[in-house]
Amino acid sequence: MEIIRPEVSTPQEADIAEGQLINSFISQCTSPIPDPDKWLEEDLKRNILLTTVDTALAWARQRSIFPLMFGLACCAFEMIGMAASRFDAARFGLDIFRWSPRQADLMIVAGTVTWKMAPAVRMVYDQMPEPKWVIAMGACTISGGTFRESYSVCPGINRIVPVDVYVPGCPPRPESLLYGITRLHAKIIKGTIDNPSLSLK
Ligand code: SF4
Repeated sequence: MEIIRPEVSTPQEADIAEGQLINSFISQCTSPIPDPDKWLEEDLKRNILLTTVDTALAWARQRSIFPLMFGLACCAFEMIGMAASRFDAARFGLDIFRWSPRQADLMIVAGTVTWKMAPAVRMVYDQMPEPKWVIAMGACTISGGTFRESYSVCPGINRIVPVDVYVPGCPPRPESLLYGITRLHAKIIKGTIDNPSLSLK
């Protein structure tokens, strides 16, 4: 609605103009307020979504993941690349990396896990609050990779902590890790209040 304000030069003219404007508002507002019984039901039908508490919680969890930085070798650089702006991991609900396990619910282990490092991996995992998940990134983390036969390398991190998603490659590219994150989403959404991580601890 276009409002035309007349030129006024005195306070009396301003009062008259304001009165005319108010009268024009009143004249255009004579139609009755729509009966809520007529439109409310249709509106409710369009805007109500039925779900379960389990599904709502799992949906919120999968879109709010706080990863823990656990880079051990060359794969870590691809993980760091994934966290940079070019790949925009926030699109997938992945928040900034945490340096404390107590503030994280996803441990991404990227690199060669030596037996000497194994107790530290387990200790950090134990310090993370439930529910929590683990991604094994790269051939070395998954199976020892090219160092599998070495006396000092753990031939698979699943011997130390339960793994939810494996991201193979040497090294896997950041896109592969993002795909692993979406696979983790698929797992989290199946979780329940009783068993949110669906992991065998
Ligand atoms: S999988 Fe390849 S890139 Fe990754 S830590 Fe092992 S050797 Fe390095």
